[in-house]
Amino acid sequence: MDCLFCKIVAGEIPSTKIYEDEYVYAFADIDPQAPFHAIVIPKEHICCADKIDETNSFLIAKVFEAIAKISKQENLEKGYRVVNNCGEQGGQTVGHIHFHLLARRNLAWPPG
Ligand code: AMP
Ligand code: ZN
Repeated sequence: MDCLFCKIVAGEIPSTKIYEDEYVYAFADIDPQAPFHAIVIPKEHICCADKIDETNSFLIAKVFEAIAKISKQENLEKGYRVVNNCGEQGGQTVGHIHFHLLARRNLAWPPG
């Protein structure tokens, strides 16, 4: 499958690893929008939030377990934001579900 983030998981495209376990991989965003900007993904391909169902939702739980671990590993105790963009109007540009983990600056709300 021609998927950028599957290739990153496979090591075919280089990335700066931040965290990895059996189910989850996290790496530095190539175009960071905050001083800390990780992309957190399930290793298994799911295209987008719209395709989460009872067969794969445990992988999303694993992503959020990983985020809590990354927060401790990276000392993000001041807080952070988790963002998922879904589909064209949601601003999704890579078709492998991913969660932006943004931190180390004040993040405006609403995001615009
Ligand atoms: P989205 O717009 O929500 O689909 O987010 C895709 C994100 O992937 C963007 O923040 C990009 O900067 C990031 N990205 C694209 N290619 C790479 C790459 N090779 N390594 C790391 N991050 C990437
Ligand atoms: Zn993929």
